[in-house]
Amino acid sequence: MKSSTQTLKKSISSSAQPKPAGRKVAVRSAYSKAELEEIFRRFSVQRPEPKGELEHVNPFTLVVAVALSAQATDAGVNKATRALFAVADTPEKMLALGEEKVRDYIKTIGLFRNKAKNVIALSQKLIDDFGSEVPKTREELVTLPGVGRKTANVVMSMAFGIPTMAVDTHILRIGNRVRLAPGKTPDEIEEILMRIIPKHYLFHAHHWLILHGRYCCKARKPECERCVIADLCKSPEKTCDVPAPLVELPPQIL
Ligand code: SF4
Repeated sequence: MKSSTQTLKKSISSSAQPKPAGRKVAVRSAYSKAELEEIFRRFSVQRPEPKGELEHVNPFTLVVAVALSAQATDAGVNKATRALFAVADTPEKMLALGEEKVRDYIKTIGLFRNKAKNVIALSQKLIDDFGSEVPKTREELVTLPGVGRKTANVVMSMAFGIPTMAVDTHILRIGNRVRLAPGKTPDEIEEILMRIIPKHYLFHAHHWLILHGRYCCKARKPECERCVIADLCKSPEKTCDVPAPLVELPPQIL
């Protein structure tokens, strides 16, 4: 009987046929459908229920927390927002608090002056344009001050359960290093990943990739001997071909 690795290898070689001359080939993953299915199946066994760590009590506080988390750790943001959200968990209450007081609550977070300004401005915009409700589409979310595409993706996924791919430094690195989604910009990588990741794994894929990057495929030196996809990985940087045992890991912080 053929092993799953043999079957996967066969599907790699059959998918690596040269393309007819003159035909434009889109930048794409180095992995076949079968390999992608297997990679994300293994990630799903390792971490069945990955979760974001940013504390929030409703979609509004989630938008604020994500906007505050740029260039800051989730733990640092949580420390500041616990007290802030206890007094202001709606756009109206945030506005009533005012910029100066918001600044006091978040002064332990980097870029707090600018972020306090944005929190007030986005609260005002939610009241003026969205009936105090956080919108569900990316197009609307990015109109809020301090909310870029990455923040919008996190909010859509965490608040509304819409699968998205917020490309951070870990996903940017893995996309290129592992040749999963070779791309120059976060938008390019996002587009490829959204296209190639099997739909039934898409919702958690974002967290799986970040955790894989943070704890295994690390920036300075990937720890390939601890990697569950070492046999499938096509990175020129990999140092081991034998996959680590596939077991569920204890919860890890994003
Ligand atoms: S084998 Fe090494 S380079 Fe490849 S994904 Fe695993 S840790 Fe990263």
